[in-house]
Amino acid sequence: MPATQGDLDVLMEQAIRMLVVNSTGIGVDTSDIQGILWSAREQRIKRGINLIPSENRKSPKAKLMSWLGELAGLDGRYAEGHVGKRYYPGTQASDALETIAIAEAKDLMGAKWVDIRPISGNNVNMAVFLNYLQGGDFVMANTIYKGGHISHADVGSLGKRVTVRGRELKEHLIPIPVTEDGYHMDGVATAKLIERYKPKLIVLGKSLFLFPEDIGAITEICQQTGTRIYYDGAHVLGLIVGGQFQQPLKEGAEVVGGSTHKTLAGPQGGIIYSNLPPDDPLIVAIDKGIMPGTTSSHHLHRIPALIVTLREYKQHGPEYASQTIRNAQALAEALDKYGLTPDAKEFGYTRSHQVALNVRRLTGTYSKEVETWLDRNGIFANSNALPYDTSVFKTSGIRMGTPEVTIQGMREGEMDRIAWMFRRVIIDRANVSLESRDLARNFPDRMYA
Ligand SMILES: *Cc1c(COP(=O)(O)O)cnc(C)c1O
Repeated sequence: MPATQGDLDVLMEQAIRMLVVNSTGIGVDTSDIQGILWSAREQRIKRGINLIPSENRKSPKAKLMSWLGELAGLDGRYAEGHVGKRYYPGTQASDALETIAIAEAKDLMGAKWVDIRPISGNNVNMAVFLNYLQGGDFVMANTIYKGGHISHADVGSLGKRVTVRGRELKEHLIPIPVTEDGYHMDGVATAKLIERYKPKLIVLGKSLFLFPEDIGAITEICQQTGTRIYYDGAHVLGLIVGGQFQQPLKEGAEVVGGSTHKTLAGPQGGIIYSNLPPDDPLIVAIDKGIMPGTTSSHHLHRIPALIVTLREYKQHGPEYASQTIRNAQALAEALDKYGLTPDAKEFGYTRSHQVALNVRRLTGTYSKEVETWLDRNGIFANSNALPYDTSVFKTSGIRMGTPEVTIQGMREGEMDRIAWMFRRVIIDRANVSLESRDLARNFPDRMYA
């Protein structure tokens, strides 16, 4: 029988009992920490509807594997270098696990080259930028206002990498143009800028990511200008490998990076893959960027859970990814039905796991405040700049995503209920905490595993 959330609750109670017994003897007191963890579990698992699109939950089996990884003492160990070529001895278990993880990832991602050592999506980006780029290079990426991740911005690792002696060269970080609706890459305009500036690297992919990037529009010009195409798929990785979103490698992206804990629903970490030969200068630079550039120990205790996640995804990924997108579309349609029309209606609202709602137009209030109204009602969805906003402190958007509610087993009918709760909180200023708690309690388990 598969492990359930109930089994994990029992384990958590047992672990706490062991801590209580231990803390009455010698040693430090841990009761305050236990209390916080217990209420975290209550809030996030038992009481809340989580629509934060970057978040998800591991399967019980993957969770148990994370614990086993720690109980087996893999945490805090070092296996710098590659399998079979490590800098330290005693890495037999890590070598065996990493070999399996790489093989599973290559198979799932359809890639010849995979590196699972980056410890987060942000680390992946740093590893790509660190050695391949130099101060003064021209690069292109999405701005924060148009959905780009902060690591692609002037204050992030991309912007900082192309500064010279700390002097920001903002004109070297060229924004990817978007079409008038704000949510689509303008392929023609982007190709023109590539021709003009001949950037060394273009970073595709976003954090507010409703529609695919137009990779096909730039592959030819990039070949002429020598611009390399990196696709930051942190948010949509699970949708890509589930075959339900654009296929960046097939469409012309050269390297794809991402997080393993967002739509992929695995342990926290990063992954990067490509079909370029290992001696391609970009891959050589990234390999050095990963180690020694941005990791030393690569958090070995997460690898067993990563293997489990990749295997689960191979079985259930397509079904999960497609339900996740259908739920996002159903949520958007239901919001519209209840008078809260999300952005990009003329394009069917979304083709990803996300929906963007302008709450400022509906309430006259900035979205940061609306985020707290929702939070008080047991609905977690984050305030976000929308393409027409001009300050990150005065934003209009609530960004919501369906990865976690879908992995709990919710479907279109539940999306309708959630949309109605939004309407009650945002328009009627009513309290729906009992309704959101009831819904969460009806879906305590992790499905698709
Ligand atoms: C979340 C995100 C990242 C950062 O990933 P972490 O795993 O949180 O470090 C990078 N790029 C994009 C586009 C993201 O959405």
